[in-house]
Amino acid sequence: MFRNIIAVIVLISIVLACNNTVKEDKSIPEYVLVIHGGAGTILKENMSAEKEKLYIKKLQEALQTGDAILKDGGTSLDAITATIMVMENSPLFNAGKGAVFTEEGIVEMDASIMDGNTSSAGAVAGVHNIKNPILAARAVMENTSHVLLTGDGADDFANSQGLEIVDSSYFFTDSRWKSYQNAKNKKHGTVGAVALDKHGNLAAGTSTGGMTFKMKGRVGDSPIIGAGTYADNNTCAVSATGHGEYFIRNVVAYDIGALMKYKKITLKEAVNYVILDKLKKIGGDGGIIAVDSQGNYAMTFNTAGMYRGVVNSDGVMDIKIYND
Ligand code: ASP
Repeated sequence: MFRNIIAVIVLISIVLACNNTVKEDKSIPEYVLVIHGGAGTILKENMSAEKEKLYIKKLQEALQTGDAILKDGGTSLDAITATIMVMENSPLFNAGKGAVFTEEGIVEMDASIMDGNTSSAGAVAGVHNIKNPILAARAVMENTSHVLLTGDGADDFANSQGLEIVDSSYFFTDSRWKSYQNAKNKKHGTVGAVALDKHGNLAAGTSTGGMTFKMKGRVGDSPIIGAGTYADNNTCAVSATGHGEYFIRNVVAYDIGALMKYKKITLKEAVNYVILDKLKKIGGDGGIIAVDSQGNYAMTFNTAGMYRGVVNSDGVMDIKIYND
């Protein structure tokens, strides 16, 4: 059975290598930061040159923000938090400022964070007024004995922590309102970051507005530890984006680490199997970013495109959008 899995992995790696940037070599960089800004039907022919520039600039700013922290010896947790905030503060991505609307025309945002060193984790789901949900997730992790707070309770908690609370009008953007009005136009655009720091610690975080026109109360994979986010210093850190219900049912982020741990396979093998074979076969659109404890990383998706980028201590800085 395991041989069959490996054979499938090898075959898929060859066929779909273009959807898949994987670094795998022996040298261990001091630090690595990988980000995504959502996966989906992102086609060059539908993108204006101007818009493309905006995305690249913002992804670059996000990478540079985390890079500066990691270069200074800062923690992977601080790097991914600051990096995700840059994307949450931009209307370009479906998180924070650019969050999509539910069928009732309001925002219900989800976010989570996990520390690969201690296995501690925090998450919020269905929050309405927190400017940076990733900060609320981190506060749940650091200042409560719980992992996941939802709705009003999470909003109240963020307020009590002194986090910035904004009026719902802050989240209004023309483009999200248009996709809300055109309910069929389901947008992906979740943001996420994973990092390995100079201390050898991994961390992962994800933040989203969820799926456009989702039911009131619907929670996706992004705030579910093990589905949309997972980090373990012994294996890897993963942040996912895509059709959340599939990612929850397949416990995608945890599955990748578990395959590495129990089957003793590499990050590349685990990611290829889960994203390009298992999920693809059942119609689970989306992708992941991941980094392992050796600094190997993956940006892998089974959709037309995924906003993504990587920076590391060896001077690598790579940003991509389409299937190339
Ligand atoms: N995974 C997110 C959700 O299902 C959406 C996305 O990544 O675009 O809520």
